[in-house]
Order: sequence, then C-alpha cells, then structure tokens
Amino acid sequence: KHLTKEQPKRHDKINVKVAAMSNVSRNPNMAQLRAGYLFPEIARIRNAHLEKNPDAKIISLGIGDTTEPIPAPIVSGMANAALALGTVAGYEKTGGYGSEAGQQPLRDLIVKRFYSEKTKINASEIFVSDGSKCDISRMQQMFGPGRKVAVQDPAYPAYVDSSVINGHCTGYDEKTKRYENIVYMECVPGNDFFPNLEAAKDADIIFFCSPNNPTGAAATRAQCKELVDFANKNGQIVIYDAAYAFYIENPDCPKTIYEIEGSETCCIESCSFSKYAGFTGLRLGWTVVPEALKFADGSSVRFDWNRCMCTAFNGASNVAQGGGLAALSDEGWKSMQETVGFYKENAKMLKKTFEELGFKVYGAVDAPYVWVDFDGRDSWEVFTEILTKTDIVTTPGAGFGPTGDGFVRMSAFCHRDNLETAIERLKKEFAK
Ligand code: PLP
Repeated sequence: KHLTKEQPKRHDKINVKVAAMSNVSRNPNMAQLRAGYLFPEIARIRNAHLEKNPDAKIISLGIGDTTEPIPAPIVSGMANAALALGTVAGYEKTGGYGSEAGQQPLRDLIVKRFYSEKTKINASEIFVSDGSKCDISRMQQMFGPGRKVAVQDPAYPAYVDSSVINGHCTGYDEKTKRYENIVYMECVPGNDFFPNLEAAKDADIIFFCSPNNPTGAAATRAQCKELVDFANKNGQIVIYDAAYAFYIENPDCPKTIYEIEGSETCCIESCSFSKYAGFTGLRLGWTVVPEALKFADGSSVRFDWNRCMCTAFNGASNVAQGGGLAALSDEGWKSMQETVGFYKENAKMLKKTFEELGFKVYGAVDAPYVWVDFDGRDSWEVFTEILTKTDIVTTPGAGFGPTGDGFVRMSAFCHRDNLETAIERLKKEFAK
C-alpha cells in the first residue's frame, strides 16, 4: 500500500532482478537518525586516512575503549567460572539460564562494595546486566514512546540516539543541530559544566552523567542535591549514569547518586564494569532501581524494569558474572584500583601536555577524559587536523552535541608507550 505506481512490486516478475525489497515500512524513528553513530563515523575517517597513508602509525585517543589487560585475579575468577561449567556440579550451580537480575552473591557484593556504606540500597534493587549502554536503551522501551527527554549537552550519544529510536523526537532542526522535543542542557566552562536545570522543567526523563563523558566533569554533592530536588519537585525521573564513578577523586563529589537524600524517589542509576576492569568486550554492568521509585499511577518502576529485563534479556553471561564476583573480592578490588589509577595517570599526563601547549583543559581528574578547548574552532576540522598532522585519533566535541563544538575529547585509555609517543607528536605539532 505504500508503494507508488512507478516503484517495482516485490513479486512483479519483470522487476524481480531489479529490486529485492520487503513490504515492510521502515521504522520512521530510524529514518530520523542523523549521520552514523559517532564512533563508526570516526572509524571511517581513520580508515580513509590510513588508506592514503599506509605507513601511518595511528594512535587512538578516540573511542573510550580500555587497552590494559583484565587483572589476573579477575581473569582467574572467570576461568574458574568457565571451568565449573564443564562439571556436572558446577553446571547445576551456575550453568543454564540464570536469574535475569543476576546471581545473588554478585548482587550482594555490588551492594557491599558500592552502596552499603553511604546508602540504603539493597540487593533486590540491583539488576546485573550486560552493560550500561544496553540498559540505557532497554530503559527507553520501559518508558514507551513520546516522552520528553532532557540531556546534558555535550553528552554520551546513546541517550539521544536511543531517544530518537524509541520515538521521543518529532524531527531534527538542521540549523540548531538539535532534535525536536529533546531538551539540550548546555554544560560549558562558564557554568562549571553543571546545567541550568530550569531548561528541563517540562521533561519527563533527565539523563545525567557524572563523571561526565565527554567533559570529565564530576558533579559535586551540592549540584547532585540540586538535581535531585529539582526532579522530585517536578515529578521527573533521572537516569544517572555513573559508569565512571570509580574515577572520582574529589571527596566533594558523590560516587553514587543514592548518597543524596531524596534520590530514591527520582533516580535510576546505571553502572558498568567496563571502564573499571576492562570489561568493555566481556560485558557486565548493573542498574539500580529503588523500590521507592514510582510511576505517576503509583505503580513500581522496579517491577516494570524487572518485567522488561525478563522479556528482553536472559541474564548476564555466567562467565562474566564469575569475573564480576572476582573483581569485587579484596584482590580484585585492589587490582581494579590499580587499573583505574593507571588510566588516571594517563589522563593527567595528557592534561599537563595541553596546558603546557597553552590550551584550556578540563576533566582528567575525576574521569578518564580530557576535554580540550580549541577556542570555538569547528571540532571536526580540529579532529582532522590532529589526525593529519600527528596520526592521532581523537573525538570531535560536536559528536557529543552542538555545545561540544569547539572542543576535542582525548581518552586516557591508551598504553603508556603509545601515550608518550602521542605526547611527543602533539608537542611538536601544536606548540603555540
Ligand atoms: N555510559 C557512558 C557515559 C559511557 O561512556 C559508556 C561507554 O563508553 C557507557 C555508558 C557504556 O558502558 P558499557 O560498556 O557498560 O555498555
């Protein structure tokens, strides 16, 4: 019914060779998405550069993917979990489909390590998953289409893209480079990267990431309290992305939003083992949905989240959960601290380099990202210049939202020798 007269019909003999298409209409939400997802787009440009310069020794400070091996105590935990699956007793205990919300000992340990000291969160509120990005997207299914979403600008692209795919947007404004019906809350040096929340007064859902990807800014206790009070006052739900919380060193910044009074009635928190233990490929994370969080009709958000997870997900890999359990043992915890410490040192080295080169630099202290100010220059242009001159891949700030233009994000996920080479190249080419 949606084919015009001129278009070939699928079963039309004459046109069979010309067109092979289904009769299924494209999801109009998918059609609304602009360009490719940021990182595939960067990979495309990088590959084109490599094709033109086959001898280039590319160093990636672009995508936030971990580079250091998973620490030995954690690998042992995984190996043991895998070996157990090869025994009758082990398979009976942890094999087969597990609980969709995760193995109980892992949920208990997550509470012990991350929540018991300063919050009231309990294990029934923890949902173990295959990672934070997956949970963020699945959450959109739970809320249903047509919600008003607010995001920090710049922000991790998955918030906006999953909002578009799930039908929260009404179009795209080419001039402002913003989707319609999404509230972009500007985060800039001038407001200490904490937005004016009033812009999000009418939003249903507020995505908030701290420490922030890409700016590296961590919200202080006072700022978090402002966010929580605002959301409670306006009856909103905050999706608080704490994927980098382990990187926080400023004692004035909470490591979980549940340290803030009132957060349990307005916040969902998403967390991940990806950047703490090198689990980006292994896949393990968790989401906290407090019992006290309710929809407008009084029904439980936790109940619906459980229902969504039971429908869309069959539980995290039992081997990955074995790794998670080991990561939260005393030895594993120490090794994660060392890994995170290594990346934090990288971040500080990068920050120092750009400061010495005369740039204004943000982040790097409470997060593995360095946010470099290029004085309002087009960030894709700066990205291309850095790649062309130094064979270093970065991430253009505009890829994280219109307010990110003028900045470039450098990731601290890099081997130390590569970082040292990158720093030498940057110093040579960008001396002001
Ligand atoms: N949230 C933020 C802010 C991120 O930067 C990332 C990954 O880069 C994720 C979530 C995704 O984490 P995961 O690997 O657990 O899906």
